[in-house]
Amino acid sequence: MIFLDAAATTPVRREVLDAMWPYLTGEFGNPSSHHTLGEAAATALADARRTVAAVLGCRAGEVTFTAGGTEADNLAVKGIAVARQAADPQLNRVVISAVEHPAVEESARYLERFHGFIIDVVPVDGTGQVTPEAFQKVLTPETAVATVMYANNEVGTVQPIAELAALTHELGIPFHTDAVQAAGWLPLDTKALGVDAMSISGHKLGAPKGCGVLFARGRTKLEPLIHGGGQERGRRSGTENVAGAVGLATALTLAYAGQEEQRRRVTALRDTFISAVLGGVPGAVLTGHPSVRLPSVASFCFPGTSGESVLLELERLGVVCSSGSACAAGSDAPSPVLTALGVAPEVAQTAVRFSFDATVTEAELAAAAAAVESAVGRVRALGA
Ligand code: PLP
Repeated sequence: MIFLDAAATTPVRREVLDAMWPYLTGEFGNPSSHHTLGEAAATALADARRTVAAVLGCRAGEVTFTAGGTEADNLAVKGIAVARQAADPQLNRVVISAVEHPAVEESARYLERFHGFIIDVVPVDGTGQVTPEAFQKVLTPETAVATVMYANNEVGTVQPIAELAALTHELGIPFHTDAVQAAGWLPLDTKALGVDAMSISGHKLGAPKGCGVLFARGRTKLEPLIHGGGQERGRRSGTENVAGAVGLATALTLAYAGQEEQRRRVTALRDTFISAVLGGVPGAVLTGHPSVRLPSVASFCFPGTSGESVLLELERLGVVCSSGSACAAGSDAPSPVLTALGVAPEVAQTAVRFSFDATVTEAELAAAAAAVESAVGRVRALGA
């Protein structure tokens, strides 16, 4: 099987599992306990936090461990909006982009339904990018928080985060970015990016599912979503997932060791794959930005097919990929991301996304490109 669905999830790396193992077995203490086992767990958690902070270029106290990317997004969007509105009731707007993951979009919808917020959606251009001009237009003095994802999960387009963050700061608006897909591939230095909050998920990086991080800059007001014993400096109560935090910290460090070289290699493989598919499949269209995109994502529409039929055919040929977002898999509705890019709904329904991790090889992608040619040809011939 050639697994080209790394944007959905990745297997746990051996080194990550090895680093986690002690905290699942012998060193199983609760970090809040005042005995040797508890202290060992607390030390491991503190080390993991420092390790993550080193990659993010921030202070350890600015790192909150969560149960994944979805929780980190919820905590950022709801937590900042609600905290700021409590301090100043005039702050009743949130800005999101038109291509956000449901974890961000639905958090904004919640604010609209239950806290009276108005959602301002900033459109994207045909490549999936938010332009600074369009972004500036939707920022107002009433904006409580603005959030634009770093890189899109369906088409891989990368946003000009530093530029967008700078624009929000001119108005004193905190800026959050969902970096779940960018993590491991793009620079995560929070100072250089100028972000106030940033979400990361472990399972896209070779750590287990159900662990994530929210970076929130020290001064950022943040109302917790989960109340209880006050763990994570009161930002996220609940006994900490020590092994998950250690796993995430290890995976993040490994992803950024030799990352430049890895990024160059995978980008070159991606471009060869894109050319092979565009050259081999008549009518195939690349979606997203042609070059400002994740090294790990190649996404297409194959007009005259159904994306789901192409996926089934590809799986029969040994290639596993997806139609876009794993969250929307199985849904008949055209992807809101692709329609936001201006793709016609009937074409959006023919979308297929190939996403790789850093272990992908030239041979795998050559075989996958040949499989795509044959799968699309067969689906078209069958009229499916
Ligand atoms: N944000 C983006 C861009 C994603 O791609 C995903 C997962 O697919 C998430 C958030 C949610 O992360 P998690 O699966 O850790 O909840």
